[in-house]
Amino acid sequence: MRHAADTEERQQFREMTRRFIETELQPHANAWDEAGEIPWEVHQKVGALGTWGFGVAEQYGGLGFDDMYMRCIWGEEAARAHNGGTLAALGGRSISIGPIEKLASQEIKDRILKDIVQGRVGSSLGVTEPGGGSDVANMKTTARQDGNHWIINGSKTFITGGMTSDYFVVGARTGGEGLNGISLFLVEKDMEGFSRTALDKKMGWWASDQATLYFDDVRVPAGNMLGDEGRGFIQIMHNFNYERLGMVAQCLGMMRVLLEESIAYAQQRETFGKPLSQHQVIRHKIAEMSARVDATEAWVNQICFLAENDKMPVDQICKAKFFSTKSLEYCASEAMQIWGGAGYLRGNVVERFYREVKVMAIGGGSEEIMRDLAVKQMGL
Ligand SMILES: Cc1cc2nc3c(=O)[nH]c(=O)nc-3n(C[C@H](O)[C@H](O)[C@H](O)COP(=O)(O)OP(=O)(O)OC[C@H]3O[C@@H](n4cnc5c(N)ncnc54)[C@H](O)[C@@H]3O)c2cc1C
Repeated sequence: MRHAADTEERQQFREMTRRFIETELQPHANAWDEAGEIPWEVHQKVGALGTWGFGVAEQYGGLGFDDMYMRCIWGEEAARAHNGGTLAALGGRSISIGPIEKLASQEIKDRILKDIVQGRVGSSLGVTEPGGGSDVANMKTTARQDGNHWIINGSKTFITGGMTSDYFVVGARTGGEGLNGISLFLVEKDMEGFSRTALDKKMGWWASDQATLYFDDVRVPAGNMLGDEGRGFIQIMHNFNYERLGMVAQCLGMMRVLLEESIAYAQQRETFGKPLSQHQVIRHKIAEMSARVDATEAWVNQICFLAENDKMPVDQICKAKFFSTKSLEYCASEAMQIWGGAGYLRGNVVERFYREVKVMAIGGGSEEIMRDLAVKQMGL
């Protein structure tokens, strides 16, 4: 047992998840990175695990319950895929399931949710625009009402799963300037006026696709508005809490992998007549990495406890996000130093995670924005 809330059920979930990841995903880490994609049947295999079903009713293919600890266990153990791109390709949908489950009409949920949750089709969240992603309240995509439809015009970019998804949760301006003028819509890939192009040659996350989406007079039925008009910003912010906590858990898992890989390498590699692990400088690097893993783990558990027993601790999530990405950056850099030249060769997990640090630090709310939000939550 790792902590007070580590029940038998959660331990079993961790063991099952780890076994799945290590046998079904990890062996393909390099091949899928080089291929720039994962086979579609992997989506269905992960869907069958139930990992996208937290907080989703069983009638829509969900688990019929929610558990923040288990959500984080999935995020942490998923890092054992040794490929963040694989996880982005699979998990792009996870940040759009919440809004569809909470806000979509019965008709939409009956029609699409089960297929998404069970991995038969993909869905994506479209918030970021070519003009910027941090200043969500200033988005430029518009939606104008026309009878029983909304006409959407504008563009989104960096959208994970953008080339492969069938459904898109998209923020658009339905009212005046600022955060109260934004609403959410479900856009479907076959709607007239919708098109997309791939973003190629990224620093990391090679196994996933990102796209720019174009909305050129896309006519969306009024029933495809998700939630109330003008409430989109609040809904996006609520959704961010889950995305950000998931990223903190994934950073924790990535750091743990980097620590394990560093220890294993330091024990077998000898310099100056003894293993690297016996040189004090290397031992200190391992101590520091290990301390950051412990601190992040304790923080994740504390956040889960508050989310389960009190309310979503937005301030803690913001602080944990920048703390964990800075810690991941440290661990990736030190792991690379310990591995030396071997780490610099393409195709090993240390090299891959080193390339994947920055998307964790920028995506889903950058370190700068997380610090800003944290201080705002402190009333300053
Ligand atoms: C691989 C990848 C996948 C992504 N997937 C998705 C997705 O699925 N859906 C989606 O909607 N978006 C997605 N994004 C977009 C991501 O959320 C944005 O990149 C992020 O929010 C930052 O927006 P930006 O890149 O436009 O930077 P900008 O907002 O232009 O900011 C540029 C830099 O300035 C800093 N900055 C901005 N404002 C301030 C300020 N007031 N004070 C100090 N510093 C500031 C930022 O922190 C950032 O470092 C993805 C991005 C990447 C790289």
